This record gives sequence, C-alpha cells and structure tokens, in this order.
Amino acid sequence: MNANSEVVALNARVQQFISQPRKVLIDGRWVPAKSGESFDVFNPATGQRIARAAACTKPDVDAAVAAARKAFDQGPWPRMSPSERGRIIWKIGDLIEDNLEELAQLESLDNGKPIAVARAADVPLAADLFRYMAGWATKIEGNTIPLSVPYTPGAEYHAYTRREPIGVVAQIIPWNFPLLMAAWKLGPALATGCTIVLKVAEETPLSGLRLAELCQEAGLPDGVLNVLTGFGEPCGAPLAAHGQVDKVAFTGSTEVGKLIVKAAANDLKKVTLELGGKSPNIILEDADLELAIPGAANAIFFNQGQCCSAGSRLFVHEKHYDRVVEGITEFAKEIRIGPGLDVRTQMGPLVSQTQLERVSGYLRSGAEEGARALCGGQQVPGTGYFVEPTVLVNTSNDMKVYREEIFGPVVTASPFKSVDDDLLGRANDTLYGLAAGIYTRDLGKAHRLAARLRAGTVWINCYNIFDAALPFGGYKQSGWGREMGHDALNNYLETKAVCAGL
Ligand code: ADP
Repeated sequence: MNANSEVVALNARVQQFISQPRKVLIDGRWVPAKSGESFDVFNPATGQRIARAAACTKPDVDAAVAAARKAFDQGPWPRMSPSERGRIIWKIGDLIEDNLEELAQLESLDNGKPIAVARAADVPLAADLFRYMAGWATKIEGNTIPLSVPYTPGAEYHAYTRREPIGVVAQIIPWNFPLLMAAWKLGPALATGCTIVLKVAEETPLSGLRLAELCQEAGLPDGVLNVLTGFGEPCGAPLAAHGQVDKVAFTGSTEVGKLIVKAAANDLKKVTLELGGKSPNIILEDADLELAIPGAANAIFFNQGQCCSAGSRLFVHEKHYDRVVEGITEFAKEIRIGPGLDVRTQMGPLVSQTQLERVSGYLRSGAEEGARALCGGQQVPGTGYFVEPTVLVNTSNDMKVYREEIFGPVVTASPFKSVDDDLLGRANDTLYGLAAGIYTRDLGKAHRLAARLRAGTVWINCYNIFDAALPFGGYKQSGWGREMGHDALNNYLETKAVCAGL
C-alpha cells in the first residue's frame, strides 16, 4: 500500500471552504473585516498556509455588538417560545451530525488533531451539546416563594422569581477544541435566549465559521450569533471591554483570563472563565495497573497534551512507581505521530509555531533544572510543529515543569508514600484546581479522596470523560463558573424577584 494512501482526501466542500478568504458573520451577513485586512491560517502539520481569515478590529467588534444588542433588545430570539428556540438549537445539533465528516476534516486540518479523534469525539460531542441544551430551553423556571414580611402583619403577597437571559454575551474561545469550545459556549447562551458575539481563536478559525453557517441554516434569526475572527489584543480586548456587552465568557490561559477580568471591571460585566490547569493524576497502591497505565498515558497525551484538564502531574504509589513509569514510557514510544489527516495518526502536531516554542522552552527548562526525560524531550525533526511525548522524572515541586501549565504532551511523574503523609498536600499544592484523577480498586477510598481534592472535576478509574450533562470548570485560578450541565445555564441567566401585594 502507498504510504500516503491513508491520508484523508479533503472533501470538495472543505476545499471550497478554505479556498476563499473567509468572511465574518455580523447581523446575518458575511462581511470582510472593515479594515480589509486578513491573516494566514496554517496547517500545523506542515507549517503551510491553508486559508485566509478576516483580521477583525474594534470597528468590527462595534458592528457585531450593535447587531447582537439589536437582536436582544428588539429581535424575536429572547421573545420566541422556548419550544421554538429549543427546536432551532436541536436542529443545529442535527446539522453538525449531517456535516460530521466535513467538520472533522476542517478541525483536523486547522488544529492538527487526529482525524479519528475529531470524528469520534469533537464533532459528536458538539452535536450532543446542542441537543442537550435544546432540551433546557423549555425548562428554565423560577420559583414561587411564600413571604413572611414581619413589618406588614396580615398582608398577603404573591412572590416569584423569573430567570431571564443576561443579554448580549461576548464569548472568546481557544484553539485546542475549536468546534467543541464554540458549542460549550453557544449552547447554553442560546438556550437561555441570549444573543452572542463569538470570537474564535486566531490559530483555528475555520470550524467556528462553518458552525455559524450551520446555525443560520438551522434558522437562527439575524444578529443572534455574530462570529468574529482576529487576534487577542485588537479584537478580543475591545470585545471584552465593550460597554454594550452584558457578560463575557472566556476560555483560555489564566494570564489572559486576568486581563478579561480587568477589561470587564470597568462596567462590572458578569464574567465566567475556564482557564488553565496542572491536574494531579493519582495511582494508589491498590490500583488496577492494566487500567491505570494506559489511563495515565492518555490523560496527558490526548490532544497532544493541549487540554486544560490534562493529567500533567502523575503521582504513583512508591510500590508501583517503577512499573508505571516504565509502562507509560513504553506507551509513549508506541504512539504514532503524524499529520492529523492521516487516519493512522494517534498524535498530531502542536497547534502553532508559538506553541511549539513554548513547549520546547519548558523541555529545556526541565533539563536545566535537573529533570530527566525517560522518553521524548525533543521536537520531532522535519516540518510541522511536532513534539515527542515526554515522561519526566526526578522533578521537584519548585521546578517550572512541575508547577506551570505546559499545554503539551509532557508529564511529570513522582512517587508518594501514603495519601495522608505526602500525597494529598502535594496534589493540592497548585494554583490551579481544574481536574484530578484517581486510580484504585477501593471505591470507598476513591470517594473519600475525591472529596478532599480541590478540583472542579474528579475522575475515578477513568480520565478526560466529558459529557454535555456533566458540569466542568475550575477551583482556584482555573476559573469562575461551570460549562455544560445544568450549571452552565446560570452563566447566562439573571434572577428577577417579583413581589405583588394581593
Ligand atoms: P493561548 O495562550 O493558549 O493561545 P490565550 O488565552 O492567549 O490562549 O487565547 C485564548 C483566546 O483569547 C483567543 O481567542 C485569543 O485571541 C484571545 N485573547 C488573547 N488575548 C486577549 C486579550 N487581551 N483580550 C481578549 N481576548 C484575548
């Protein structure tokens, strides 16, 4: 068989989509950036340009926010019956599924992730998220509340709460799961009746733009969803600071999350944040190692390690430490690295030259500080932004590789003696609190430990399991608020108390 024969041939729709400069969606119309400027979009497997996207700046932000404002204040969307809104959101899920292959190809081409993963996870999860949120549109309810009011004895009241959409929301998303991050943000905002300006990441604008076309096709009224492409400072910053925006929802680095909070502080916009992580993954003395070893490897290597929830600090009971690090090292050496569009690929390139430099910088710093790489530790020679999956040992808690989020396929592995003596304190000793993993056969022990870990998600005998119904978000500097599940609706709702004297 020809060595290239397992590389997916781009379908005609994808070729056509990337062949023209991409416009942005404002008020139901596809328009270029007002400046006329555009920027290159790269294939991370080759470093070659694959498309051009509009470089939006403040005037585009102003136009998009004005459209969202008009759609919220005067348009049909917040006033539509919940069931009709739910039907449109459900249709978006159906259209994602109908266009699964095209979206998976775009995602793999743009982000670099293995096409098999995009087909099996990113795209179906996005479809599922819209369907899950479609169901919520008809179930957003307030309460009736019996009052006592001591200073009006004998008076009667009818009091109740209404849950109302928060208004115009700015949503700024990253590049690691471009389509899915858009779905996580759009689904609950649409279900609650908000209108939206979405800024997709400059590294990966393509699937978000295609999703916007599908939202139009599903019947979303003009102005409800506006999608901008552009860079952080010229486009994201004026969006986060905009006076006509009621709420900002951001996913990305903790560093930019802090800038978002400052930008939103001027007029006290509501803010939710889904930020970084340095998640502990713990293998206890009684773990099933057949499950734990591949589990721990996938926890860090999935998506090239570019997951905010990545299990990047591995703690292994000292009894199993040697066997586990050897097992993960073997696993890492077997991973097939290649372009995302090759169906055989298990690990693609990092998303960009910048990300490659960032991860390489951490690998150098680890080596300088005395960490030892049992495997990997290097960029893969040749074109594209590939890095070897890396297992670091001899790390200590003052090293940058141990403390900081690397966002690449790099795990630090360290042994521990017991949960109480040295594990729990070390696991929680981080600025972050996004996720944690526990491998054990003793479920009582697992649930007790789950309660003591300061993290928004704890996986037991599994890792990186996501579902539209399961809330996800962080303690500490990993963020504010939760994505997905019932909780996500709270990000987009105000509570109004109505009190009537009878
Ligand atoms: P990463 O460092 O992993 O690329 P970032 O947090 O920089 O992640 O980017 C996530 C998203 O935030 C992207 O859409 C990016 O354009 C946007 N962004 C970056 N800087 C700013 C900023 N100052 N204000 C608003 N958005 C920003």
